[in-house]
Order: sequence, then C-alpha cells, then structure tokens
Amino acid sequence: MRDWEANIRKVTPYVPGEQPKRTDVIKLNTNENPYPPSPKVAEALRQISAEPMRKYPDPEARMLVEAIAREEGVCPEQIFVGVGSDDVLAMIFLTFFNSQKPILFPDITYSFYDVWADMLRIPYEQQPLDKDFEIVARDYDKENGGVIFPNPNAPTGALLGLETIDDILSHNQDVIVVVDEAYIDFGGSTCTGLLDHYENLIVVKTFSKSRSMAGMRIGYAIAGEKLIRYLSDVKYSFNSYTMNQTAIALGTEAALDHAYFEETRQKIIATRENAKKELKKLGFSFPDSQANFLFVTHKRVPAAELFAALKEQGIYVRYFNKPRIDNYLRITIGTDEEMERLFEFLREYL
Ligand code: PMP
Repeated sequence: MRDWEANIRKVTPYVPGEQPKRTDVIKLNTNENPYPPSPKVAEALRQISAEPMRKYPDPEARMLVEAIAREEGVCPEQIFVGVGSDDVLAMIFLTFFNSQKPILFPDITYSFYDVWADMLRIPYEQQPLDKDFEIVARDYDKENGGVIFPNPNAPTGALLGLETIDDILSHNQDVIVVVDEAYIDFGGSTCTGLLDHYENLIVVKTFSKSRSMAGMRIGYAIAGEKLIRYLSDVKYSFNSYTMNQTAIALGTEAALDHAYFEETRQKIIATRENAKKELKKLGFSFPDSQANFLFVTHKRVPAAELFAALKEQGIYVRYFNKPRIDNYLRITIGTDEEMERLFEFLREYL
C-alpha cells in the first residue's frame, strides 16, 4: 500500500435501487410516483429559457422556500431546501450529530443513515424493531447523541402515531430528533404540529414521492428558525448554490398545486389498499403500510426466488439481502394497471 492510501476516506457507499435502461418494464423498485408531476410543472418548463442560466441561481432559493412555507403553514425562515432529502439529511448529520455519544436509529430502516454515520465518523446504535417490525419507543430513552427515524418507516411502511412521536421527543429534549417524513403524504399525519413544543425537532420531507419529482431532486427540512440558521451556515460553507434555477422554478409550481397533489396521493392510497387485499388473497403478509409501497413476504415461496422471477418478466421490485428482511420484497405502488399486471403474474406463478 502506498503511503497516501492510508489517508483516504474509505467508505462503503449507499446502493440505490436499479434504474433499468429498458423502458418496457413495470418499475416498482424505487418508490417513485407512477403519475407525472403537476401539469403546471410541464407548463412552467415550456416557459424556461436558457439565457438566465449564465447567471448563478438564487442561493436562498427564496421563491421555492416561500411556496413550501405557504404549503406547510410556517414562515420561510423555518424552511431549508436541498438537492433531494438525501442532501438535506446529509447536511443534518454533518451539522447536528457531533456528540461522542451514539446517535440512535432502527436496525431496519433507510439504509443511508448508517452510510452517512460511517462516512462522517458518527457513532451510532441501531435499535431493533419488534417482531411486527414496529419501532419500540422505549428503546430511545437511553442517553444518545441524537435520534433519527423515518415515519412511516422504510422499507416496512409502518406508521407511528403522533402520540408515540411526542413520547419519543419528550424523552429526548437535549438532542436533535429528526423525523424523516419522505412517505408521510400517503396516509400518515405530519408531526410538524409538534415544532411549537420541541425546539430540537427537525422534520424532513421530499418532492420525490408525493409530488412526483424524484428526477428534479428537491427536499426540505422544517424546524425552528435557530436550527435552520445552523443548517444554512454549514450548507453555505460547503456549496452556496445547491438548487439550480430549473429546480427552483418547477418545484415552486409543484408546491403550489395543492389540488393535483391531493388527487394523485388519494389515487395511490386507493391502489395500495386494493393491493393489500389482492396480495393477502395470494398468500402474502406484510406490515400495514401507510406509505407508497408494501413490504411483503410469502408463506411458501422465498422472496429471492420471486424477485428473480418477477425481474425475468420485466417487473422490477426491491429485494434487500440483509438479516431479518431477506425473505421480503418491497413493492412500490404503481398505477392500477401496473398492479393488475403484477397480480396476474403472481396468480399464475404461485
Ligand atoms: N428518506 C427515506 C426514508 C427514503 O426512502 C428516501 C428515498 N430513497 C429518502 C429519504 C431520499 O429521497 P430523496 O433524496 O429523493 O428526497
């Protein structure tokens, strides 16, 4: 080994779900929204000209921040935007998780959390979900350097009620608590109402799922003004211009089209509830998901086998070859037609 190799920051990166080159597939593997973004986004895209791109974008992304603040019913100083919620979460880890004590998150959860913790040398302890894949609130009472969990959790889809979130917060008032609400719009209640009671709470949301804009990369944090200022200081010490002009313009349109957001999220909820019935009939069981995916296991056929058989048919779902969940598949909710194709194949195969 050469001397310089000892000084390299070596990391095991996060592996995102596959984006197949083929377009003739049914893509239920990365929790994307099956519906296009708001028609107002398409309209705004037609109005965009290249000329302003010679200038830097607004470093504060003020137009987008104000639209999100209006939608969330908070003031713009309580919003921090980033390049997808992954960017926002990475900034949060960097800014707030600097204790010698371990941060706490579930053992089965978004698999980027341990990657950021490892990369940034943040100690962490994973708290096991119970046998029904539920977060156990009491596991988060111990001393720690911060707490983070998604609600609903990923990849299980299980939702914690607001009283449980309140309970976890009431036992963790001396550290930053982050609730990652990437999937909250598919049936849960946002915990932003708790921001008035807990100045240490940060809620993170994204345009990637319920606003159909994964490809545009827009995410945000909502918190008290003081935490947002700390977060912005770190971001401006890293890269002033994370949000490009197109993302700012199109994200603003998506944020303001509340009617379209309601219509598409209700369609996905209805499709998911029907999928629960169909998959149960086929012999699957799963936590009661309130997200845009189901985390399913079959009573007879191993998940790895089903994953391969589905892929062969051009139906992509997600399989995690990890302890406790290696007999489960995460199936994103697609359109009714896509889900029917999935059920048809499963009826035949099983
Ligand atoms: N949090 C959770 C729980 C997720 O599943 C995802 C999607 N991979 C994200 C955050 C990040 O989403 P994005 O960066 O697209 O906003």
